[in-house]
Amino acid sequence: MRPSTVRYAPLRIRKAARVGDGPIVKLLSADFLKSCASTAQCPRDTVPEVACVGRSNVGKSSLINALLNRKALAKVSGTPGKTRLINYFVVHTADSSLRRFYLVDLPGYGYAKVAKSVREQWAPLMETYFAERTQLRSVVFLVDARVLQPQDALTHRWLREMGLEPIIVATKIDKVARSQRSRSLAALRAHLQLNESIPVIACSAVSREGIEVLWGAIRSAVVDDR
Ligand code: GDP
Repeated sequence: MRPSTVRYAPLRIRKAARVGDGPIVKLLSADFLKSCASTAQCPRDTVPEVACVGRSNVGKSSLINALLNRKALAKVSGTPGKTRLINYFVVHTADSSLRRFYLVDLPGYGYAKVAKSVREQWAPLMETYFAERTQLRSVVFLVDARVLQPQDALTHRWLREMGLEPIIVATKIDKVARSQRSRSLAALRAHLQLNESIPVIACSAVSREGIEVLWGAIRSAVVDDR
């Protein structure tokens, strides 16, 4: 057997298990903890955290609410004023390896109507966040299943350059006709230049499609990296 076969085979199995067979995580509670304008205000403990990032209006708040089974924990709106804040939610589950973690709602990027000064704060704030939060276990990167923008590709590349391997979620999949889904996901993969081994989880906050799969990926990320 060639050494490369030995090296890569277990990895493939693990990736497949991460996305296809995500166990159902029993949620016990989910509560808003705080909003932080800078990383200095982020919790000073070692609770593992999972951050969500995506373009403004991508459906991040809706997805967080769907994940946490709450109607309005994260604010769903087009109001750009809140985009600068890092919002922390504390989540408890019945899963023994995922008893407590923070789900972190990072500011959305790319909202054209936000003042330039606000837009320019986004990258430095994110750089500081990613550099400082050693308890960060995973990043959920959200891309609209139908609307691909150059900033999505740039942000994805930037995350990878920082050494992060985001969980990629295609949002609002209910808006894509079933007959168009594989084409739409292929376009998304090409746009982000994803290689074959990187899974994309198609989700909808409306139909709840993909939510359990995303839970499985989050659980694996928190547990695997311990
Ligand atoms: P955010 O700015 O990324 O937090 O995005 P929001 O969660 O506020 O959603 C932006 C808009 O997209 C709102 O009008 C939502 O109702 C809508 N939306 C979000 N998720 C979905 C989804 O899964 N399906 C559909 N059809 N609409 C969605």
